[in-house]
Amino acid sequence: MKTIIWYQNDLRVDDHLPLEEALRHDDPIEGHFFINPNQFVENRYGVIPLGKERLHFLKESLEDVAGSLDALGIPFHVHVGHPLETLDPSDRLLFQRAVGYNERRRENEVIKKWKGEYETFGGFTLFEEGDIPFEKMPFLFTEFRKAVEYDVRPRELISRKATAATREVTFPFSIQEVKQDPRTAFPFKGGELAAKRRLNDYLSVPIRTYKETRNGFGVDDSTKLSSYLANGSLSPRRVFFELEAHERTHGVNESTYWLYFELLWREFFQWVALEQGKKLFRSQGIRSKRKDWRVEADVIEKWRKGEMGVDFVDAFMRELNATGWMSNRGRQIVANYFSKELKQDWRYGASYFESKLIDYDVASNWGNWAYQAGVGNDSRDRRFNIERQQFTYDPDRAFRNKWL
Ligand SMILES: Cc1cc2nc3c(=O)[nH]c(=O)nc-3n(C[C@H](O)[C@H](O)[C@H](O)COP(=O)(O)OP(=O)(O)OC[C@H]3O[C@@H](n4cnc5c(N)ncnc54)[C@H](O)[C@@H]3O)c2cc1C
Repeated sequence: MKTIIWYQNDLRVDDHLPLEEALRHDDPIEGHFFINPNQFVENRYGVIPLGKERLHFLKESLEDVAGSLDALGIPFHVHVGHPLETLDPSDRLLFQRAVGYNERRRENEVIKKWKGEYETFGGFTLFEEGDIPFEKMPFLFTEFRKAVEYDVRPRELISRKATAATREVTFPFSIQEVKQDPRTAFPFKGGELAAKRRLNDYLSVPIRTYKETRNGFGVDDSTKLSSYLANGSLSPRRVFFELEAHERTHGVNESTYWLYFELLWREFFQWVALEQGKKLFRSQGIRSKRKDWRVEADVIEKWRKGEMGVDFVDAFMRELNATGWMSNRGRQIVANYFSKELKQDWRYGASYFESKLIDYDVASNWGNWAYQAGVGNDSRDRRFNIERQQFTYDPDRAFRNKWL
């Protein structure tokens, strides 16, 4: 009998509970990763979910974890298809649970047909089920934050070093070459080593002023950890405990606290997504708030291409199209504009982000989009004044001029 580690959004060896459990026994171990073929098929919003920048970053991340698993003597295989088409259900199965509705559904299909032993683990979130003090998630972030920020602690970290060696993984299809745009605010590679390097670099100096810079558009204005957290090259617990170690040495300030605050936003959206399941993808959102959404193909296309004639919005969209990256401020502005000003069905925007963003994460993306569209976890229905946003965040038009 073999032990199978089914890798999903946990592309690392550090702080990886299924791996540690597998290594406790003498059975041969194999790692497997499955890409859902639907990810390459145009969806109902007219986009291919796994866009080329995302795929490129995923490949780098897979090659990195393949190298680390090689060093442990664990073969690692990448497939396109359903796990049940490849795996032997009489083996022992270990995996970290995902959060998204479709991902959970696939997990449940596998569990239902599995004949051998299986065990599932947490690790995608900072806290674990049972540690969160709610039977029902609060509707508002503030209520969630106040209940957990000082009273719930992430579980212990299990450290394991990744190796520097990578191993090429062959995809059963050809992938388009992606050349990094020199203007990108995300000039990083995928993988656990790159993730740790970025975390260490950020915690060495830029963190001290994070609260003041986080709305900016440059490389060090924010951590750029989201992509690593999204595919699991980095565990949120690792970020938490490294931040705490930094605070012990260099002191707590508003900026160090603020990074924790933002990690709690991520946490909030994860637990909301888990609780709400497929409601997250409804036009009326989790608030069941019906609005007269429009679906105007030409308007949606212009927004996507960055050709609305609204400079600040266009600049952000062109940045996204050229790099697979956009700052948090940019995301809020273009999502708010799409849903509140253009009144287009917000899911067309969210789906476009899904295809493009290197850091795409189902809970954070759909949760934030719904929030901006007025059908998510916000009782207000705020509409941004784009001119004022530009005046506040890009007063000298440096960002606008970079992209237009
Ligand atoms: C419309 C829209 C779509 C978004 N889609 C995604 C997505 O697909 N994937 C994703 O990871 N984030 C998404 N976000 C949240 C946020 O924009 C990114 O997490 C952030 O810009 C990533 O940059 P950073 O790592 O430098 O963030 P930092 O400012 O350095 O924040 C640190 C970490 O906190 C978390 N975080 C910060 N803000 C948020 C937030 N609003 N919601 C959830 N987590 C947050 C992220 O994990 C981030 O890495 C979206 C936001 C909006 C408004």
